[in-house]
Amino acid sequence: MKILSILTLLFFLFISSGSNSQNTVQDSVMLKKLYTAALTDGKAYEWLDYLSNEIGGRLSGSIEAENAVKYTEAQLHELGLDKVWLQPVMVPKWTRGFKEYAYIESLTGEKSVTDICALGGSVATPNLGIKAEVVEVHGIEELAALGKEKLSGKIVFFNRPMRADLIQTFEAYGGCVDQRYSGAAEAGKYGAVGVIVRSLTLRQDDLPHAGAMSYGDTPVEQRIPAAAISTNGADYLSSLLRLQPKLLFYFKMNCKTFDDVQSYNVIGEITGSTKPNEYMVVGAHLDSWDLGDGAHDDGAGCVQSMEVLRLFKKVGYKPKHTLRVVLFMNEENGLRGGRKYAEEAKRKGEIHRFALESDAGGFTPRGFSFDTNEANLNKAKSWEPLFKPYLVHYFEKGYSGADIGPLKGNIDVLAGFLPDSQRYFDLHHAANDTFEAVNKRELELGAATMASLMYLFDIYGTD
Ligand SMILES: [Zn+2]
Repeated sequence: MKILSILTLLFFLFISSGSNSQNTVQDSVMLKKLYTAALTDGKAYEWLDYLSNEIGGRLSGSIEAENAVKYTEAQLHELGLDKVWLQPVMVPKWTRGFKEYAYIESLTGEKSVTDICALGGSVATPNLGIKAEVVEVHGIEELAALGKEKLSGKIVFFNRPMRADLIQTFEAYGGCVDQRYSGAAEAGKYGAVGVIVRSLTLRQDDLPHAGAMSYGDTPVEQRIPAAAISTNGADYLSSLLRLQPKLLFYFKMNCKTFDDVQSYNVIGEITGSTKPNEYMVVGAHLDSWDLGDGAHDDGAGCVQSMEVLRLFKKVGYKPKHTLRVVLFMNEENGLRGGRKYAEEAKRKGEIHRFALESDAGGFTPRGFSFDTNEANLNKAKSWEPLFKPYLVHYFEKGYSGADIGPLKGNIDVLAGFLPDSQRYFDLHHAANDTFEAVNKRELELGAATMASLMYLFDIYGTD
């Protein structure tokens, strides 16, 4: 190689590495600012305290959900965003009613009370409750083999546990959730009178875990009640069934579905400086189940999303794109908010570039999963070194989130914020999902991690 060519090559290497390292320095300074502001002067924990302890569980259509809309709207106004508004959306209203009651009755007539909760969307039992023999199964596919002959008049007990060997607990959850969601619709086809589903948690305890179920197109008169039983209760019932296959299970619930009611997505935005008509979204769901106060699911995600925009203002960052925080209503039992947001975005012809969702708890941040093309994925992966000081390292292709999902096809990048998932299902949809279970620093680190990714996509754009 001629000496001139070598010099030219060296010159270009110098130029390109020089500009990269300059960007890297600027970016790492910005990330440091965001993390420092979140950890030393954060607002997320204070907001979460109010949402959890002053408002409480925020089931769609409830007074608490309405209060959460008013509270977060007011807080977004206080941040001095360029625009804050409510996006109307009709949501389902289902109520649990009085506390559910259940017991196992042995062949000798002894009754042992066990902890259950109605699954969201379930019909009530008759006023006097239901008492029947129990058939234990480990999956929907076992029903056909048993048929009407064995299932008619029985309570079907779905007892497939979550797999403990999977590191991503969401994968273990995904492997079992069909029992909860479709168990009643499927068992009803064989004449079952009710279903009891093992709670979706890896922990052994006495807490039943709620969650959505659906009857699909089952006619109203053929719908059977569905409840979750705690893991301890499920194990006890299973072991007793081995000794006494003809034991009886009794349960009583008076949950009810009402007509849809008016609710809202809460939205705030900072107008972009150079691309005001191109949108980047950070969001979470404002509704929650009612047994706890919904602090991790998904109060944490809401206050983190609000904190992202507050942090940008705090550190004086003026975004290029218009950055929006969206608090979606009704993720848990309908996804109406997520669908409405995407529908309105399409109707108005809004160009969406990026959306980030936080709906996996307020635990220590690990990284993100991206639903996007290779170019954007590689771009995100190239930022990994910037996140190294914060112990954030997971940048992989994967699922983003339920509420931003409907934007797919009309957006460049969908991203899911991934905190550590080991403890999430200990409290997911259960009475112990409370403010005390959230660690302030972990929550704040999550908010800063989310802000950092949004900053980088704002600066470098999407492909
Ligand atoms: Zn959630």
